[in-house]
Amino acid sequence: MYHGNILQERWRSGSGNDGAGGGRWQSPQGCPALVLNADYTPLSYYPLSLWSWQDAIKAAFLERVDVVAQYDREIRSPSFSMRLPSVVALRQYVKPSQNPAFTRFNLFLRDRFSCQYCGAKEELTFDHVVPRAYGGRTTWTNVTTACAPCNLRKGGRTPAEAHMLPHQRPFRPTSHQLQENGRAFPPHHLHATWRDYLYWDTELEA
Ligand SMILES: [Zn+2]
Repeated sequence: MYHGNILQERWRSGSGNDGAGGGRWQSPQGCPALVLNADYTPLSYYPLSLWSWQDAIKAAFLERVDVVAQYDREIRSPSFSMRLPSVVALRQYVKPSQNPAFTRFNLFLRDRFSCQYCGAKEELTFDHVVPRAYGGRTTWTNVTTACAPCNLRKGGRTPAEAHMLPHQRPFRPTSHQLQENGRAFPPHHLHATWRDYLYWDTELEA
């Protein structure tokens, strides 16, 4: 089945339409594949782990993934045709890193993209709970998410001085905790074949 030049060949669009798209014509660009780990859980919830159709097909040919579900959409080359993968699963389990990187995105994700003082979801910034002027460091355990107005209000004061306590004490999250928080942020577009893999345990709880 594997053809050495398959990836270099020029693909042509098929005429199939996507079942979940109400018969609307979709370009291959609109057909990303959800990437699952070898245990069939998403590699990442937020941002959702998606590959372009080209990457998904390439990985399938290289036998790095199993195709779990497909779009109706088909692509053809002179020697081959296949339906675009909508869900792929890695053959080799990727262990999530135990210590997520201390990044702007991960910090907001830990705090569920909400101000830890008032709950606002807009104008998010960082706040040093113990101000830098007091020796507070830029670490997981001293930085929290604050909206700009709260940040301004707290200024260079400690929580005690400002009478402003963050809802949760800043902590170093695990990858699992970030994944769990990420599940609260479903993307705008969810293909029908993705749902089983994104929310299966939620549905079992219901
Ligand atoms: Zn606020």
